Amino acid sequence: MSNRFTDTVDCVSDYILNSPGTFITDSLRGFVAAHPDIVWQSAPGFLHLRERAGESQVALVSGGGSGHEPMHSGMIGTGMLDAACPGLVFTSPNALQIVGATRWADRGAGVLHIVKNYTGDIMNFRIARHLVRDDIETDHVVVADDVASDSATGPGRRGTGATILVEKICGAAAARGDDLGTVADIGRRVADNARSISVAYHACTMPSKSAPTFELDADEMEFGVGIHGEAGRERTARVGARELVNRMVDPLVDALSLTHGEEVICLVNGLGAAHPLELDLVFGEVVADLDRRGISIARPMVGTFVTALDMRGVSITLLRADDEVVSLFDAPTTAPGWAANPSRGTAPLSDTSFAEPSDSADDGAENEWLTRFVRHVQESIDDLTELDQKAGDGDFGTNMEAALSHFSLPVRGTDSQVLSAISTSYLVRSGGTSGVIFGVLFRELAHAFSETDDVEAAIREGSSHALAEIQDLGGAQVGDNTMVDALSPAVDALENGDSLSDVAEKAAEGAESTRDTTATKGRASYVGENARGVVDPGALVVSWLYQALADD
Ligand code: ADP
Ligand code: MG
Repeated sequence: MSNRFTDTVDCVSDYILNSPGTFITDSLRGFVAAHPDIVWQSAPGFLHLRERAGESQVALVSGGGSGHEPMHSGMIGTGMLDAACPGLVFTSPNALQIVGATRWADRGAGVLHIVKNYTGDIMNFRIARHLVRDDIETDHVVVADDVASDSATGPGRRGTGATILVEKICGAAAARGDDLGTVADIGRRVADNARSISVAYHACTMPSKSAPTFELDADEMEFGVGIHGEAGRERTARVGARELVNRMVDPLVDALSLTHGEEVICLVNGLGAAHPLELDLVFGEVVADLDRRGISIARPMVGTFVTALDMRGVSITLLRADDEVVSLFDAPTTAPGWAANPSRGTAPLSDTSFAEPSDSADDGAENEWLTRFVRHVQESIDDLTELDQKAGDGDFGTNMEAALSHFSLPVRGTDSQVLSAISTSYLVRSGGTSGVIFGVLFRELAHAFSETDDVEAAIREGSSHALAEIQDLGGAQVGDNTMVDALSPAVDALENGDSLSDVAEKAAEGAESTRDTTATKGRASYVGENARGVVDPGALVVSWLYQALADD
């Protein structure tokens, strides 16, 4: 007997699923379980708000192919949609689904259909309105915002990102009690004044397929892409975000004839696999771009709202704003897919770089041994990265580079000055475990070298204080496969009065000993057996420090 939870997946898919055939219904199951105020009607197949709106309220129904979530299911809520009809992936719902949703939603004040401009959607919604015309007053708004599909012939512009703005603004108008004609007029005004464009760096993959709907080379992008996995208007070389945004905003401003002094609502939308960092970055570029054109953003909306399955890309939608549009945009909604804490404006762009710490060592005499050490690390960044990739998470080289790459060689200053500058640099410029561990090591060394001119005494005192503090901080013992494996034998040798070259040798042996152990501390501990045979990079760098001193 088969158990639905242990059945093996019967196809190769990029998606987490039981089977491609139940992808949408299994997802809907989780969606309604997570949202108790949204209900699924399996016959004929639509989602609706559990509580019906008041009698005098116009109802809103939308729908379309699945794969664009959180649109439309996530836009069901008070102040937005009363019901939504999901079709199969990228396939319009059928007319009977729409009839069912329309009949359920009607309170006597009429039902507005919000329809994306695709032939199948247009026809099914139209037939549905035809089928209910004897009993229910209906109207419809067609959303056709995608400038990439603007052409004199053919079905006209596709409906994309602007759809949720129409749903939001019409929903707010219905909630405040506007009649059907008024809500529809506002919807058409919003649709007429909104334009979008999309770009993809990677196409989407259908749940039942193992390859994306089209292939892009690593340096290519699809400009003017649609949200159904269809190729775009133009395949071109990738450009920097600034230029990309400029190319995207141009046709939107043109199409809307936006002029200096006007305000817009700006939606920067992820198409499924764009990272929030990318979306924020794109929004920053849009702000800068519109600023140069003298257009201001009354309301920003940045996030993932209208997707094309797992497409890696972004769309930009501009909607000409006026006071009424903005106040309806701001009205509350319970729709789970709408922005949870929507922004009420934009701030001017600010400088968000990290301030440069003033940690450079004094000018003065060349410091030979610390120059040797810094040079050794600077020249070994790639090797250190590789070691941490094999035995950790790969950031060790970056952390060393962040701390030491800005020192120009030779480094100048007394031992204490340079050690102190290195310590500060580790603490403020690098992250990770190594930033703080090496920051502490060099701080203790700097302190000890400032107390005495006796180099052997200073390195002994500084090293043993550093070891104690690092062990206190991270709990590593010898054999845990960390820099402690090099530092601890060096401290033993120093306390034993060994020569600096013997100390360096002990540290090197300690570093080498990490080759045969697996880490139990730090990120490297997560990779377990994979760390066997790899020298711990932190221990290696510690051994270089003692080597640099011994070579004096
Ligand atoms: P992470 O990736 O763990 O944040 P880094 O890659 O910056 O850290 O640094 C890794 C190095 O830090 C290791 O090579 C190891 O020598 C050292 N390290 C990790 N954990 C400890 C610890 N508890 N005590 C001392 N050194 C440690
Ligand atoms: Mg690491």
